[in-house]
Amino acid sequence: MTALKQALEGVKTVVILGHVRPDGDCIGACLGLYNYLALAYPDIKADLYLEDRNERFSYLKNFDKIQTEAAEKVYDLCICLDASDKERLGKFAELLDEAANSLCVDHHITNTRYAKENVIEAEASSCCEVLYCQMDESLITKEIGECLYTGIIHDTGVFKHSNTSGRTMAIAGKLMDMGIDFGKIIDDSFYRKTYVQNQILGRALLESIVFLHGKCIFSAIRAKDMEFYGVTSKDLEGIVDQLRVTEGVECAIFMYETGVQEFKISLRSNSCLDVSKVAQFFGGGGHIRAAGCTMSGNLHDVVNNLSAQIEKQLESRPCITE
Ligand code: AMP
Ligand code: MN
Ligand code: MN
Repeated sequence: MTALKQALEGVKTVVILGHVRPDGDCIGACLGLYNYLALAYPDIKADLYLEDRNERFSYLKNFDKIQTEAAEKVYDLCICLDASDKERLGKFAELLDEAANSLCVDHHITNTRYAKENVIEAEASSCCEVLYCQMDESLITKEIGECLYTGIIHDTGVFKHSNTSGRTMAIAGKLMDMGIDFGKIIDDSFYRKTYVQNQILGRALLESIVFLHGKCIFSAIRAKDMEFYGVTSKDLEGIVDQLRVTEGVECAIFMYETGVQEFKISLRSNSCLDVSKVAQFFGGGGHIRAAGCTMSGNLHDVVNNLSAQIEKQLESRPCITE
């Protein structure tokens, strides 16, 4: 029996939570599970809370059921998806504390196993991949498949990151066989950009700086620039991935200002550099090749502190190059 099936035994109410600034994997997993419960466990009353609803994913079934404000309610079971630590649950963390039981399904190497039951597969491409293996295959409908496929393509960068495995492709293949419009999902939810999203991407690339002899690239967007272009954090997705494919670069850093002297940092690695260690040093987390954290201070200090840690990591595990 899977941990999910076991946790759901005798349960009447479930709350599903994801992480702050929910991404495609988080929203895909949360809605995938919500739709699965509705079908496989019709007697269970489930609520899904996320910090915000990114309209990019509005094609997913029951997207309109995502609630952004928690009700005063205590649940039998709290299921946390794609969130590596309790802080990542943001303002909904209380619901986890109050629930009678809890289950975390995740794929972050930095997961702190904060729930009562934890299914953590650091090798998995995405939370959606782990979740798929927790579900009864015969009960996965096309609509659930669309949710899980969305999560997989977002966390693998459409099957190209090193976290993509044969199992990832096998699962994606099974989901494709359900008749999902995979080309449309990939285009509309991953590649499509609005005009301003392209503008801010262009600006970030234009102002990027390489350092550590071309091994690192960095770019920052100020709050005033975000205001000028009329963009929010959701519009900045993908910028760090474009920086990462710069020739010769081993580490890409993208940051944007979230408040007075506060920056959200995204890190990507192309090599043996473990950016989850860098992010963890600053109180964040993630994966070996994709991680993030929040840092305080002026831009200059933040970059200096980051680059010192990156240099240290690079030195502690030097890359073997031909
Ligand atoms: P991002 O750069 O925000 O796309 O995040 C890259 C990866 O790092 C994702 O798997 C995130 O879940 C994780 N991550 C980002 N920020 C944090 C943070 N502050 N704490 C823990 N994990 C994070
Ligand atoms: Mn995520
Ligand atoms: Mn994920």
